[in-house]
Amino acid sequence: MRKLLNILMAAVLSLTVLSGCQDNKLKVLIVTGQSAYHNWEDSHQILQEILENSNMFSVETSISPAKGQDMSRFSPDFSSFDVVVLDYKGDEWPEKTKKNFVKYVNDGGGVVVYHYSVASFPGWKEYQNMIGLGWTGKESESGTYVYYNGNDELIRDNSKGIAGSHGPAHEFVIEIRDREHPIMKGLHRRWLHPKDELYQQLRGPAENLTVLATAYADTTYEGTGRHEPMLITVNYGKGRIFTTLLGHVGKEKMHVSTMDAGFILTLQRGAEWAATGAVTQELPEDLPNIAAAFILPKYKFYTLDELFLNAKRFEFGKPQKFLYLISNRIRNAKGDNAKLAMFEDKILEVLKSDDATAECKNYLCREISWMGTEKSIPVLKELQKNDETSEMAQYALSRLK
Ligand code: ZN
Repeated sequence: MRKLLNILMAAVLSLTVLSGCQDNKLKVLIVTGQSAYHNWEDSHQILQEILENSNMFSVETSISPAKGQDMSRFSPDFSSFDVVVLDYKGDEWPEKTKKNFVKYVNDGGGVVVYHYSVASFPGWKEYQNMIGLGWTGKESESGTYVYYNGNDELIRDNSKGIAGSHGPAHEFVIEIRDREHPIMKGLHRRWLHPKDELYQQLRGPAENLTVLATAYADTTYEGTGRHEPMLITVNYGKGRIFTTLLGHVGKEKMHVSTMDAGFILTLQRGAEWAATGAVTQELPEDLPNIAAAFILPKYKFYTLDELFLNAKRFEFGKPQKFLYLISNRIRNAKGDNAKLAMFEDKILEVLKSDDATAECKNYLCREISWMGTEKSIPVLKELQKNDETSEMAQYALSRLK
């Protein structure tokens, strides 16, 4: 009887857990398990973390059999998800699975195609129509090569040529081509993307395709000298496909290409758009820009309060990214006195608190030294009395007076 009760309790509990997942989050299925030349073990977890950090998605993963194993029973239930994220380059799916996938997209399902997944299924016509531009790595008899030339003209080139290549990985600039698209709206027109592979010469049916953003493939890095599509959408049936060609994940320890604020933002927004046709996510304060690659080590945009909370723990010699992000926001607010006043209040709270390190306080004194007002003076005078903070407090006071 006790055992039966336990089972019943467990059932009730698991139902509760399940219904907890039935909130308003969009349901994502990541399909992975094989990725030639890549590291799907890492990449699918990165994609999951990024999507979950937006608080918009609940994510499940379907891992295929390993390369060369029996695929005949691999059949994810696409139809019970709002968006399917493909992190997959490997063996063909069974015909029935392919059919289910086509039906899912035709009926309005969303798809996100990530990086080398554009090299999947070269012989599967419907898939090629969905992705628009694909990679076989070989000379191609057919297919349209889409790019922008130096005069900002969209070129559709139907001549024969290789389908897919890249030179050595490097830092490059992403340039938005459709600033009104919901995925891109509000982002800076250009941003610097950290070291990554720059895919070029993708070819395919390229129907119902929109190029959202490009990158210039510099000939210094074996590039084509053209502006190659980096972010793409395709409409297929009632379905929407968002492709990001960014985000190489290989054997290296740090996958810096996926830590780019621009990669993260467009993935989160692209997934929502693919699922619903709209983007409701608010833009964060920290938008990627052209000045420097904007790296988010934990794939997370922070609220200002979270930044200050983390910054309080800053000790000398430890990564000061939270303080750096605070400085960045203050600089972005330059000229907006109301915002600067808000920052000053937040900083003074930290300077007065007992739980912030001296290193953190010293760092923030430097900020106050250029943007503080007379209300900072008594707080700085108080800090002057403490050996660990007296020098910086003195410095800030001398600049404020
Ligand atoms: Zn790659």
